[in-house]
Amino acid sequence: MSVRTTCPYCGVGCGIVATPDGKGGAAIAADPDHPANQGRICSKGAALGETLSLEDRLLHPEIDGQRVSWEAALDTVAGGLRDTIARHGPDAVAFYVSGQLLTEDYYAANKLIKGFLGTANIDTNSRLCMASSVAGHKRAFGSDTVPGLYEDFEQADLVVLVGSNLAWCHPVLFQRLEAARRARPRMKVVVIDPRRTETCDIADLHLALKPGSDVVLFNALLAVLHRQGTVAAEFVERHTTGLEAALAAAKASDPAECELRPADVATFFDWFARTERTVTLYSQGVNQSSAGTDKVNALINCHLLTGRIGRPGMGPFSITGQPNAMGGREVGALANTLAAHMDFSLPDIDRVGRFWRAPRMATKPGLKAVELFEAVGRGEIKAVWIMATNPVASLPNADAVREALRNCEHTIVSEAIRATDTVDACRIRLPALAWAEKDGTVTNSERRISRQRSFLPAPGEAQPDWWILAQVARRLGFGDAFAWNSAADLFREHAALSGFENDGSRDFDIGAHAAIDDEGYRTLAPFTWGGGRFFAEGGFFHADRRARFVATVPRLPAHAPSVEHPLRLNTGRVRDQWHTMTRTGKSVRLAGHRPEPTVELNPRDAAARGIAPGAVVRIDSRWGHAVLRAHPSDAVRAGEAFVPMHWTAKLSRAGRINAAVNPAVDPISGQPELKHTPIEIRALAVQWHGTILARRPVMLPRLTYWTHVTAAGHHAYVVAGEQPLASARRALAAALRTTNPGPWLEGEAGIGAVIADGRLEAVMVTAESYDDSARDRLAPFMAVGRLGVDQRTALLRGGEAGDRGGEMCACYGVSCNAVDAAIARGASSLDAVGAATRAGTNCGSCRPEIRVLLRAARLKRAA
Ligand code: SF4
Repeated sequence: MSVRTTCPYCGVGCGIVATPDGKGGAAIAADPDHPANQGRICSKGAALGETLSLEDRLLHPEIDGQRVSWEAALDTVAGGLRDTIARHGPDAVAFYVSGQLLTEDYYAANKLIKGFLGTANIDTNSRLCMASSVAGHKRAFGSDTVPGLYEDFEQADLVVLVGSNLAWCHPVLFQRLEAARRARPRMKVVVIDPRRTETCDIADLHLALKPGSDVVLFNALLAVLHRQGTVAAEFVERHTTGLEAALAAAKASDPAECELRPADVATFFDWFARTERTVTLYSQGVNQSSAGTDKVNALINCHLLTGRIGRPGMGPFSITGQPNAMGGREVGALANTLAAHMDFSLPDIDRVGRFWRAPRMATKPGLKAVELFEAVGRGEIKAVWIMATNPVASLPNADAVREALRNCEHTIVSEAIRATDTVDACRIRLPALAWAEKDGTVTNSERRISRQRSFLPAPGEAQPDWWILAQVARRLGFGDAFAWNSAADLFREHAALSGFENDGSRDFDIGAHAAIDDEGYRTLAPFTWGGGRFFAEGGFFHADRRARFVATVPRLPAHAPSVEHPLRLNTGRVRDQWHTMTRTGKSVRLAGHRPEPTVELNPRDAAARGIAPGAVVRIDSRWGHAVLRAHPSDAVRAGEAFVPMHWTAKLSRAGRINAAVNPAVDPISGQPELKHTPIEIRALAVQWHGTILARRPVMLPRLTYWTHVTAAGHHAYVVAGEQPLASARRALAAALRTTNPGPWLEGEAGIGAVIADGRLEAVMVTAESYDDSARDRLAPFMAVGRLGVDQRTALLRGGEAGDRGGEMCACYGVSCNAVDAAIARGASSLDAVGAATRAGTNCGSCRPEIRVLLRAARLKRAA
């Protein structure tokens, strides 16, 4: 039977229809009735069915690597927390939670630590994603309120995308925007981003501003709007305060500092001034900055001045990275907030404490993510419980995080996945349910609460996160307050708290759902809390009900480039991977798009360093290093470099880029500056490159560079080394045959293979130069049961399958070369390429890249 649920990846929050196949898998389709996606889906969502296997799952509790009973594990967790608090006080305990948790899980964690353990040392990995938006909202509106709805993008005449690669990071919203633009060609799109991303494909104007100069640009816009009288005078007069101070700061900003063409800046300012229906949509390029909160307020200032907020087609709009970042905000899972959008004010502490009948309410904000793990490192936090997140890979200065965990007395992790960098570093491992098995709610970026419903049974001994927390709470003597029997019980309590003594003074109020029965919860349809938009008629949540203009004074990123580290490192996402690849990494289709960890750098910077395309390079910063494949690209400004944040120590030798990222944070929001680390890049003296495909995992010898992805029925490795090729080949062949035994056959052109009983068990090819087509050539032989004589001969000659040039369309497995060939044969539009190859005809996530190839072909023909 099909089940309606929600995608577990990005903050768009698409509805999914999952149809179990009875064998542990499921067919996945977009939900045509879900308001967020209306039948659309992206490549990641469409591949969810390929990520459901139980390989790599944590299925039983473990202590120090040994399987134990739930009783023993829970007793040990409770005993460790009790003992730590008795000896060192509550602030020696911390939780680090996740936007992957469901709201009900989040609620349980927050209630336990803030109401019953007596500390607010709980922070969520959403701190890395949108804490600056939360802080900016609160400064401007008096509450963490996203004023608008997704349909505003479609109704706007001008959409300004700031620090957002919507095409890759929120693909279904991009599809909606693209469709709206096709329907209303007068709509204009401006992209403000130092990098030329795929989102620029639909932009009328791309402002590749100097990194970190966003405040200058929006300050200058505010001053221009004011000077030329584009002011909603009545709205400003009745509903705001602080304009003069904001203007004084804005007038000191010179847009020349943004390093943009003055004509482009003038065009942007002109369009903004003339277009009433303007949405400014922003994401991590704004938030992940040591000035992130000021960036948020600088752009909100422009909307307040023009009164463009809370009405159709207009407003500032923060789009979150994670599926339930908003749910976390609602339950107060940030260290500096309380449940139900309350704060650490005395009345709120008292109110929440009375509602929970909490014996030991936290009375002050706790430590935010980066400072929390720094406190673990200093030994001040002695017990840390990590839930559904991978900070050893995702936090900045990640090696220090790993060291901190290794040296911490009590390290607990609740996880669905066995093989993560963080699980490796924790002593007590608690198996949690994964997406397909969990039941609860999530909130997307437009405040829409949707049900996530289980459609597969719980595997092994895995349990819901809220259950694990409640069991620990009971062992600590708080059984009455944690006596939930279902996610529905938690939802009712969460809804009741939101309405508790809420006379309209708090934006978040779903109290009407507090009496929902189990059947009502089971069938709950997606709904947007708050009803519709906020603030069209004022009604802000500061005590005087007025919004605040915030005076934003531009400041440079925390760490400036230097002679030693002259380049600026920017990190972000790629199209087909999600966070640390624990799920998307299982999909062959998705792995094909960007199969290796790369660094994009400007061709001028590459040439100056003698770095050729495909070279193995080392990135160094003051904090750490990474080893990656170089990809020179003029999409990146000179002086900058871009690296995806997905690769972990499980998947690569040193592709875990956060080891090199600086730990500077915004002083208000605590959000790390993940997009601006001074680095240097140098080519390594690599002597050889290789590709290995093997049915069973290979324990590789010590190498300069390796990556590992799963593929259809085999493991794929790309390797490179600085030692002589001959000795490397011997070491690799020995490693290969250890786990893939059988006769070893040497072929031509660096090929070596294990073929046992006619079946290819493993194959490796090595050469002095990098050959990025080797995997495409060799993979077809792994799919054959018994190799025929001709096939064996072809394999030992190096394989005969064509070079695919990388994956273009993950949905239909269409390669870049196939699309190129279709264009060469005369396909001159997206539709024509789709008709010829099927690429771009399903989820549409690859359409921006197809357009790039079409444009390149047009330019070539015109030259
Ligand atoms: Fe999932 Fe893609 Fe929708 Fe995001 S856009 S929620 S990743 S299907």
